[in-house]
Amino acid sequence: MGATGEVPGLERHNPGTNWPPAQEKSTRCSKFQRSLGYAKHVSPKKTPRKRASASKKHLCKIHGRPIRPSYWRAGHRTTGCSECYRTTEMPPDRKRLCKKHNLPILRRRWWSGYRTKGCLLCFKVPPPNKRLCVKHDRPIQPSSWRNGQHSTGCSLCHNSRPGYLLAKARYRKRLRKKASIARKSGTARKKKH
Ligand SMILES: [Zn+2]
Ligand SMILES: [Zn+2]
Ligand SMILES: [Zn+2]
Repeated sequence: MGATGEVPGLERHNPGTNWPPAQEKSTRCSKFQRSLGYAKHVSPKKTPRKRASASKKHLCKIHGRPIRPSYWRAGHRTTGCSECYRTTEMPPDRKRLCKKHNLPILRRRWWSGYRTKGCLLCFKVPPPNKRLCVKHDRPIQPSSWRNGQHSTGCSLCHNSRPGYLLAKARYRKRLRKKASIARKSGTARKKKH
């Protein structure tokens, strides 16, 4: 038994060195976590995982279904759900009527997803100074506006597109043909009478 009463071997342990470092492991860990961008006292496991479901938030304005991610990436913001692109054929005018006004739903609108509304009367066309083309500063044509073109589509836009002029020519030709057929059938019916 020693005179001082100390336990032999304890004096070898120097209190100044602070050994063993009890906290070293935990501090190292949190430092590492902070370096990853986590806040203090927040471990990676505790943070709720954000689901990358972009399509769930963005719903089609017409069908209320999620816009397809591919269409969203392509720039669609109001339409583009699975319902929008289900059909590949458009019914004739008389089978494509607006429930409210009983007029045919505009072709372009029908293709963009309108099925129960979207006729000529469904879309209000603002005064010319409220529908200016961003490219040319001229009024967007009412038909273009009704079809959903709200940033471009003035007369200069249309005339600067050779494809549009060609389509217009084809349309006129078709109209002339229709008119002549109608005239012929009309006279034929008159003869029958
Ligand atoms: Zn849709
Ligand atoms: Zn309508
Ligand atoms: Zn224009």
